[in-house]
Order: sequence, then C-alpha cells, then structure tokens
Amino acid sequence: MYLTIAIVLLAICGVLESCTALAAQALDAALAAQALDALVAAYPEAVVSHEGERIIWRDGTIMAATDRVVNKSFKELLSNASILDQFRLPYPRGRLTSPPELNADPGRFRNETFFKKMYGDCRKGEVQARMVSITWLPKSWGKSVQVTSVNGVAERLKRVSEEIETLPTEIRKAAYPIAGVLACRPVADTGQMSMHGYGAAIDLNLVVSDYWLWQKKTDPIPYRNRMPSEIVDIFERYGFIWGGKWYHYDTMHFEYRPELLRISGKLFRSGGP
Ligand SMILES: [Zn+2]
Repeated sequence: MYLTIAIVLLAICGVLESCTALAAQALDAALAAQALDALVAAYPEAVVSHEGERIIWRDGTIMAATDRVVNKSFKELLSNASILDQFRLPYPRGRLTSPPELNADPGRFRNETFFKKMYGDCRKGEVQARMVSITWLPKSWGKSVQVTSVNGVAERLKRVSEEIETLPTEIRKAAYPIAGVLACRPVADTGQMSMHGYGAAIDLNLVVSDYWLWQKKTDPIPYRNRMPSEIVDIFERYGFIWGGKWYHYDTMHFEYRPELLRISGKLFRSGGP
C-alpha cells in the first residue's frame, strides 16, 4: 500500500519541492516495509510480524527497527547499525560480473541486539547451548562440526554439505577442511560480533581463501577470489550469503542471512530512514 501511495505521489507531484519530499518519505516507508516483510519471512521461528517499523518477536518482545539516525558513515554503519540499516546495501544474488564496488559490503552491517536475541549471547554460553553436531562432507572429509540449531541452520548446512558432495573433486576440495564456526569475539575492524559469535557462519578451506586484511595495504583494495562459484551457488540457495561479495572480502566465509537473499536491488537512498 505504501508503495502505491508513493508512486501516486511521485506521479502527481511533478516539480513541487515539498510534495516530492513527501513522496520520497512515503517511498522510504514503502521500502522499509518491504525490508521488514523480508525479515519476518526469513526468520519465522523467531519473528512473527512487524507493525510499521517495530518488530514483534514470537515471545512478545517489541524491538524498534530504526534508530532514526540518518546519514551514518560507513564506519558508523559497521559499528552501530539499526535493523533497517542491515538492508542498506543490496546483496547481489548469483555470480559476480565485476569486483564489489568501494565499501559494498552487503551483510556486514549487523544489529547486535537483534542477532543476540535470535541466537543468544556467546559470552554467557547461550549460543553454545543451542549448538549441535553435523558431519561435514561425510564422503570427502567426514569430521563433525558444531553449528547453531536455531533457524534450522544446522539442517540447512547438512543439505549444503550433501550438495557439495555431488560436485567434482577439484571444486569440492575448496569446501574442506573447515577453518571454523564459533568464534566468540568481535570483528577486528567493527568492534561488533560477527555471525561466528552466533554459530551461524562457517569458514571453508583456508588454503584457497582470500581475505582483504591479508593484502598489502593499497587503495583500492585489489579483489582476489579462488572460491568456486558452484559452492557459492549452493550456499545461497539455502540462505547463506558469501563474504566474497564484499569489497572487504573474506572468500572462505558464509553466513546465514536469508533476509538479504529475499531482497534484490537497492532498498534505500543514501540518506535512508
Ligand atoms: Zn568467517
């Protein structure tokens, strides 16, 4: 409905400045609603609905999706993102046709309150209590890894593992040994917990991986990747985004962020809600 109002306003407003500002506001509200619809659909175990820009959790908790702070810098978005800020950069589905643009890190803006409520606080042992063992690539590697059971992440990773087993050996060997899952510490450059702090991210074979911090400090950062796209495709089908699609790339890294895979295209203008 918001979207219709916005389109109608934009159509009838023409060049009247105050009127176009109104239309832009309506458009932002429409896009915010679209983002929160995707969030609710992505996490049905945890979230039941949203009322405007407030999220309603299954246990009745109400959480604001926006902090009303506009024009945050990239650094501020990394260290202090609202739930809606998480959607500020579009995650490109499918294969990359060119390296990510400067600071295009879709998925690296994370609201810690939101994910802590979802998966627990690893510093209090809450995340660990919800971890289960899965056998990663039973035919090729066959070791057990601990991942969260929340949101069906463990079940999804089992299916990812089954599909990777069907790939040719040369491709498949980029997916093992596993470099890590749970890491209860903040990310170096953001001060925020990564999805590893929730047991909802997995790092594949370190030997074929590239990470922006391992590069010589040049500007712009030269893009590198050796992770086969066949592996990326499988993870994305099960709701995991890939760190190789970030300007600050981390090509062994996959994290469960189905909300971002449900949205395509740019959601917010730079100012945003
Ligand atoms: Zn990682």
